[in-house]
Amino acid sequence: MSGNNLIFLVMDSCRFDSYQRAKTPNMDRLGLGERRYSFASWTSPSHYTYLMGMIPHRSPQGVFASEVYKQDFVKWVDRLGIDGLSFKNFVPNLSLPKVLQDHGYRTCARVSLPVLNPTCHLNRHFDDYKLMANHNDFAGMVRDIEFDEDEPQFYFCNLGETHYPYMLDGDSLPHISGVHGVFKRMDDELGQAQQDQFFDERQMQDLHQQQIKTVEYVDGVLDALISQSPVGTHFIVTADHGECFGENGYFGHGPIVHEKVLEVPFIEGRKK
Ligand SMILES: [Zn+2]
Repeated sequence: MSGNNLIFLVMDSCRFDSYQRAKTPNMDRLGLGERRYSFASWTSPSHYTYLMGMIPHRSPQGVFASEVYKQDFVKWVDRLGIDGLSFKNFVPNLSLPKVLQDHGYRTCARVSLPVLNPTCHLNRHFDDYKLMANHNDFAGMVRDIEFDEDEPQFYFCNLGETHYPYMLDGDSLPHISGVHGVFKRMDDELGQAQQDQFFDERQMQDLHQQQIKTVEYVDGVLDALISQSPVGTHFIVTADHGECFGENGYFGHGPIVHEKVLEVPFIEGRKK
């Protein structure tokens, strides 16, 4: 086999401090979690940068951006164990799955958010790209992941569990009464052009707490994935962007300029 298996997990909307406050024994096994920054505040452009081979940055000062990019691309040599891999391999396509395909990988994507569906621009140079039927099915993705002794595998997975409403429809986590109230009102007022009341501070805190629980849930599923992976498999666990929970009157991400929307966790390491 020419390169290491690569598992790239993107916890959608997972803000750095939600990861930091969660108990994550399995992510801890992979490596030390860092606070990093996403290149974009919402799902599609952020996933696009990851598929270019750009990982969340540290916002370094006093350096040229071109140097930062170059150093980041060199790290792929280490991650994949492919000698001589450099930025040159990434041009002109600027595509991580293309580079991997060129080096004999099978490239697979499993996505949860409909905005990343298989007909969108992101689905290039993938042998197998699938939108999951359920937003919260990391466990289903893991059941689907297979390894091959003769062919390195790339799995790029977008996880919906950490995305609002934070597994509200799942059975494994407690429901939030405040959010339920909002949904109930939406039903009651169907057809009326009335805006829902914005979350109050207490609801924001509950939502943040709920996101922390989803990170712990994801970490539990990760245990199974690490177990079934061959030794040497390289893991990246990160988020596509963060989330605001009431800071400066913001909730969520996307059309928001706030540091909390760009802060993401970054963990990487190899199965030993
Ligand atoms: Zn997202």
